[in-house]
Amino acid sequence: MIKFLDLQKINAQYQDEFHQKMQLVLDKGWFVLGDEVKQFEANFANYTNSKYCIGVGNGLDAIVLIFKAYIQLGLMQKGDEVIVPSNTYIASILGVLQADLVPVFVEPKLETFNINPDLISEKITSKTRVILPVHLYGQLCEMDKIFEIAKQHNLIVVEDAAQSHGAILEFRNQNLEVRNAQAYSFYPGKNLGALGDAGAITTNDEELAKVLFSLRNYGSEKKYHNEFIGVNSRLDEIQAAFLNVKLPFLNEENNNRKEIANRYLSEIKNDKIILPYWDFSNNHVFHLFVIRTENREVLQDYLKKNEVETMIHYPIPPHKQKAFEAWNNLSFPISEKIHDEVLSLPISPIMTDDEVSKVIQVLNQY
Ligand SMILES: *Cc1c(COP(=O)(O)O)cnc(C)c1O
Repeated sequence: MIKFLDLQKINAQYQDEFHQKMQLVLDKGWFVLGDEVKQFEANFANYTNSKYCIGVGNGLDAIVLIFKAYIQLGLMQKGDEVIVPSNTYIASILGVLQADLVPVFVEPKLETFNINPDLISEKITSKTRVILPVHLYGQLCEMDKIFEIAKQHNLIVVEDAAQSHGAILEFRNQNLEVRNAQAYSFYPGKNLGALGDAGAITTNDEELAKVLFSLRNYGSEKKYHNEFIGVNSRLDEIQAAFLNVKLPFLNEENNNRKEIANRYLSEIKNDKIILPYWDFSNNHVFHLFVIRTENREVLQDYLKKNEVETMIHYPIPPHKQKAFEAWNNLSFPISEKIHDEVLSLPISPIMTDDEVSKVIQVLNQY
């Protein structure tokens, strides 16, 4: 069986370094907000070309905390509207709701699965404060257009980068006059995955970073002095240690993913399968390789019988979830079509050439 994602094998590559790091942390006896967290924050800020990185407990908290910090800074308030894509992982929406903000859905482009910038302006009201693009499956949204809209309407840009570690956005650090921050998750299955929950925020915004360092730690920078009503959402010292081991190999791992994607794109030839769009720039790190097909269940069963494991990201759009009954009657036809048709093929940095060939061969015979 070709596994969809073999986390055991991915992490086995680093197990000697992991053991050394665990010993180091044990020997030091400092388990929360220590040297490993500081080092990871410096390393990841450097890697993402950001001035600041704030380690937090997970990716969902990263989104929530960015909003809470902007509220704290007086740039937003409860009930403000946030533009979000109507097809995303549920956490993007939960992040908005947990900060007492209101999500306003915008349809994606069918080809890229990402938010359609041309549909954003018509959803902007006097209550809109933020655009929340989600770089789904590892592919950057059309950020030049999104930043331009944000600039015109004086909006903040909060990126859900939980699936796009290492996708390169060259213009982000130019002087855009747009406040922005990025939320990352290091959930084990992500391109940069810890051995448990972990997350981080990156930004060039000094004011924001200062509030975030405090908010994640009870609203306190100086012990027992609480400036804000904060939370406990800190990046674990031991997870930071593991991430410090893996970060130097992220580009190489992403390149392996891109090579597999390249083979899938050029060698899968089947009229029943629509391959994903990629312009071969560095804006896609293939967290997932997602195809579309009309009879998804038939294809998934066929692949399973032929020992290829697949997954669906995601079977139900947020507005159709039971948790959001009030939105169940809304209609987002492109999102719904995507959720009906998508299927994720195995892709990971440790997949062998033979495994990739087998997936291609099986698909071409379907
Ligand atoms: C994984 C993910 C999150 C949430 O990250 P957690 O660390 O699991 O909380 C948020 N948004 C997207 C798009 C994700 O894929």
